[in-house]
Amino acid sequence: MRRIYFLLLLLISNLVFAQNTANKNFAGSSPDFTRCVNMQEYELLLEKQDPTRKARRDSAVKVINEKIEQQKQDHKAEATQYTIPIVFHVLWNSATPAEKISLAQIKTQVKVLNQDYNRLNTDTVKTPAPFQPVATSFHITFCLAQTDPNGNATTGVVYKQTTATAFSYTNNSAKYPFQGGDTIWDPNKYLNIWVCNLGGGLLGYSELPTMPLDNTYGSVIFYEAIGDSGYLPLAAYNLGRTVSHEVGHLLNLHHPWGDDGGLCPGSGGTDDGVADTPPEGNGNNDSYTYNASSNGATFGCPPFPYTDNCSTTSPGIMFENFMEYTDDNCMNIFTKGQYAIAQAVMSGPLLNLVASTTCNPPNGIEEYLFSSSISIYPNPSSGKFIVSLNQENSTHNTIEVLNLLGQTIVKLNTDKQNNTIDLSGEQNGLYFFKITNGTYSIVKKIMVLR
Ligand SMILES: [Zn+2]
Repeated sequence: MRRIYFLLLLLISNLVFAQNTANKNFAGSSPDFTRCVNMQEYELLLEKQDPTRKARRDSAVKVINEKIEQQKQDHKAEATQYTIPIVFHVLWNSATPAEKISLAQIKTQVKVLNQDYNRLNTDTVKTPAPFQPVATSFHITFCLAQTDPNGNATTGVVYKQTTATAFSYTNNSAKYPFQGGDTIWDPNKYLNIWVCNLGGGLLGYSELPTMPLDNTYGSVIFYEAIGDSGYLPLAAYNLGRTVSHEVGHLLNLHHPWGDDGGLCPGSGGTDDGVADTPPEGNGNNDSYTYNASSNGATFGCPPFPYTDNCSTTSPGIMFENFMEYTDDNCMNIFTKGQYAIAQAVMSGPLLNLVASTTCNPPNGIEEYLFSSSISIYPNPSSGKFIVSLNQENSTHNTIEVLNLLGQTIVKLNTDKQNNTIDLSGEQNGLYFFKITNGTYSIVKKIMVLR
């Protein structure tokens, strides 16, 4: 009897689920897709899977809160421009060639990030007037990494063929080779984004930062929602805002409604901890509320102002925020309060990442080119040496001659290709020519012999 009840229950819950799926007819959006996951529930899942995570997460939150307080006291200037190198891991199955998103399309995603995180997006004019004063740039330049973990040149995109047909957020499979995924690159040097067939109609998910960073820290994105040009079949999600949203989580930003099922802050609900994003619950149960399991998320693109149970009067909730679930062409703003959190993250858990030099090409090659472009002749010489600097774009060179005691006997700043160094007054013997172009420095041995 009990078993029958159980089966009946299972059948009913399946029917309810099917109905919910069929009812996703929120205005404007592709009905079968959801932007992101409930961050509170996801964090609890991660902590359940790895009981040591909670301590690292708590450390990060503590440091972030301390940095925010410090910033308030310092009235810190907002001029710092941060640099963040990205590596995309594209997981593709030969049965679905579209999964192999082109490098050109991925570059459009980097462009979108640089627009949205510097308030250079063309739709800032759509930010309603009451929200304009809190809108801000995050002063972050994103790049595709140019140096890989072995010091070799890279496009910043790893294409990994996989036999997996779909990936899941519950087991983080995109990040593990044994599940068809690709191994993370050092999260202290690269921001990792996996692009794959993320199952379940989910567009993306991300991990909040920990201290130290976990070896799974990054975002996983559905392959049909990359960039703003190329293979983009989902009309509501074709402007690259899925990644703009997910990178927000990597910077410790939360959904403005707090993933608390429609409750309001101060009345049992959580919020995003940001003062200048209005309180939000969206218990409206209208066409912009996806269903009971939306947890207070707003979908589609409501007309402004859109009020709800937590922000009952105009200007209502900030459904235009990048951390919302609204359509790509509906979101256009990050706030100063969100920026304060991101700044704290970049001066705390991401301190190493924003100091990473992997946006630059490998030193080895550049240094080699610099070194091989320099010739000194004749050598040995009775005193006069020609130092020839053949590199195309290297001005502002310094030529320094040192004796065996390491003493500088000649120092010359030069923009010329051919330079004569006269050591006729020096004794016979070995000398060092140190040539510097501001970035690289090489040392060559010469001999005075007469
Ligand atoms: Zn999200």
